[in-house]
Amino acid sequence: MTSEPKNSLQLCTRCILPETFPGISFDKEGVCNHCRREEKALAKSPEKKASYRDRLDTLIADIKGKFPAYDAVMAYSGGKDSSYTLKLLKERYGLRILAVTFDNHFVSPMAWENISTVTDALSVDHMSFRPPWTVAKAMFTRTAQEDIFPAPTLLRASAVCTACIGLVKNIVLKSALEMSVPMVAFGWSPGQAPIQSAIMKTNPGLTKQSMKALKNAFPEGMADEMGQYFIPDAYFEKFKDSFPYNVHPLAFFDYDEEAIKEELKAMGWQAPSDTDTNSTNCLLNAFANQCHIQRHRFHPYVREIANMVRQGVMTREEGIEKIYSDQNHEMVEYAKERLGL
Ligand SMILES: [Zn+2]
Repeated sequence: MTSEPKNSLQLCTRCILPETFPGISFDKEGVCNHCRREEKALAKSPEKKASYRDRLDTLIADIKGKFPAYDAVMAYSGGKDSSYTLKLLKERYGLRILAVTFDNHFVSPMAWENISTVTDALSVDHMSFRPPWTVAKAMFTRTAQEDIFPAPTLLRASAVCTACIGLVKNIVLKSALEMSVPMVAFGWSPGQAPIQSAIMKTNPGLTKQSMKALKNAFPEGMADEMGQYFIPDAYFEKFKDSFPYNVHPLAFFDYDEEAIKEELKAMGWQAPSDTDTNSTNCLLNAFANQCHIQRHRFHPYVREIANMVRQGVMTREEGIEKIYSDQNHEMVEYAKERLGL
């Protein structure tokens, strides 16, 4: 039995996108325009994934051991996807990896435990970076109340997450540039980022543009205070020939959430009981989701989860359960209280 959401929104009969998702339309069979558009690409997906695995093999053969400090910097949250990516890069390729955690002040205690357990089990160096609470609080209070980013961004993530992830990307890239590391790895799920961008050399010009866009979205005073979290202007010239590759391998490796959790548990990783259904590491996520749903009438993870349902890496029932359950009330209240909202 499929459990349709209680609020009786019309959902795509294939992928779970709701009628409230901007620009959506449904055909006679109730299948959405996104599903129809993806049909051809999905049919070719197995060959495409195989070709990306070959590309990663080639890239790694090219860079491994040839740079002074590390082969890769990994944006590491302690959640299941980034833990699994770290394991894959370490065990399959034997890379020298520096795992970097952005401490946004809402990393769950269990995530911290998992971070230590996994980096120890894999014998990987780890570093965390924490802006002071005043900065984190100002950033999250603002983005919880206002969509400061352009509309297309908000189809993919809440304003709170967009702000946080924007800083994560800058901090890992900055670390890679400063330490001459040729690769930056992310644990994006196969629904979060398209395969086309799964192995990509970063470009100083484009990076500068997207960083400026992020910076400009913040109110002036706040952006000034956050200056040191962005790539300094001088770096775009100074390091112009050594911008790293960005990779997110889960776009092209087999992905099965339960199998991933089992593999991680064998290393001592524990599924947190203190977070919501969409995050295994962040205590702010449930509140961020609720703010977004109230403002936009669709869940900020629905696009990602719909992509995974469409790709067949998650069942439609699991997707509905993740997206159309109420946010955990206690967690929402916890985050609100800490932010003083
Ligand atoms: Zn659909």
